[in-house]
Amino acid sequence: MTFSKLRLTKGYQVDTTDSEAMRQIRILEKKKVISTQQKKSIRCKNCGNTIVIPTDAYQGDPLPCISCGKKTIFREDISNKFLEITSINFEAVKSLIDTYIKQEVGQHNFTFDSDRRLWYCHIDGKKVPVCVGGWSSHNLLFLTESERCWMYISLQYDIDEKRVSFLSTKNIIDLLELVDTNGRLLQGVFQVAQDYPQLSIFDREAEFDSFVNDISYNDFENVIVSFLNKLKGKSNQIERFLSFLSKYQDTFINAKYVHIGGPSQPDFISLNLKAYLESGLKLGISGEVKRYIKREVSLDDYMKALTHAQQEGNRFIIVTSTNSVAATVWSYVRDSFQENEYRQVIFDKDILLLLSAVTGIDITKLLN
Ligand SMILES: [Zn+2]
Repeated sequence: MTFSKLRLTKGYQVDTTDSEAMRQIRILEKKKVISTQQKKSIRCKNCGNTIVIPTDAYQGDPLPCISCGKKTIFREDISNKFLEITSINFEAVKSLIDTYIKQEVGQHNFTFDSDRRLWYCHIDGKKVPVCVGGWSSHNLLFLTESERCWMYISLQYDIDEKRVSFLSTKNIIDLLELVDTNGRLLQGVFQVAQDYPQLSIFDREAEFDSFVNDISYNDFENVIVSFLNKLKGKSNQIERFLSFLSKYQDTFINAKYVHIGGPSQPDFISLNLKAYLESGLKLGISGEVKRYIKREVSLDDYMKALTHAQQEGNRFIIVTSTNSVAATVWSYVRDSFQENEYRQVIFDKDILLLLSAVTGIDITKLLN
């Protein structure tokens, strides 16, 4: 795989004299994937740190350095121009990839999972997921290093992916390369489908879905209580998975991407999956406040749990059978992270399936 020069994250800065980086920026801007803003900076004359010039600054203004606090006079002739990525438009990324998949795989040969923000290409009877870095909820794709029937479209480049040793050229496509080839690189899904068996988790998921569908709310609660109890006896398997996550600590492997919403545009953030699982498992077995829900988790569910959990230091866990969780709830969950621990945890369908796969406990067999 060849990586582009850009790192597609909000706040990333590109030197306007770097012609290759600027060419890439223009391509993505044309596709409305990113928005940028031109900015100027000067060097602090005391410590050399970069001082970004505010848009309302005038020539001759003394500007403070955030690093040392000393002021440097802003003069146009000593300023340096750069572009800053101000936003990534995931709706544009989605429609771009929709178009490419339609074109390469065929209109009727794929589906889109709106909770996970994943595409499933249906090829020769196999389901091949295609995910987008930093956006798709992809935890089930990376349960092991050996199961590889998936495609990953990378936006972060250079930083994350190179460190994940088991990624191969077959599995990963750089978004810019994809755009550069007008989507042709997505032909790679046919190769992946040919080379690897379908991810085993999809069979589990189908069983889980039909099982949950057929049981009552009470039965769902009983099954979850029994599942959380049984997890206590599987600490070796869980430890092994947690150390797999540790190995990829600061990469997307250890990230649970969630949608937290926002006033103007959707925003996606990552939770630290290892800390998240550890916190949830602790809450699940310690008898702190729990709620078991067989549908979407709403803000109302969250608030009720919070009210009940006040004596427990606002610690609680909600277990749900779906991946639908209100965006505002995820933002509270994110904010509950303190001292390497989440005080509030939602075990959604993906986390349940993940723990079930890791421990070998079949949730669909737990109904008494
Ligand atoms: Zn300074």
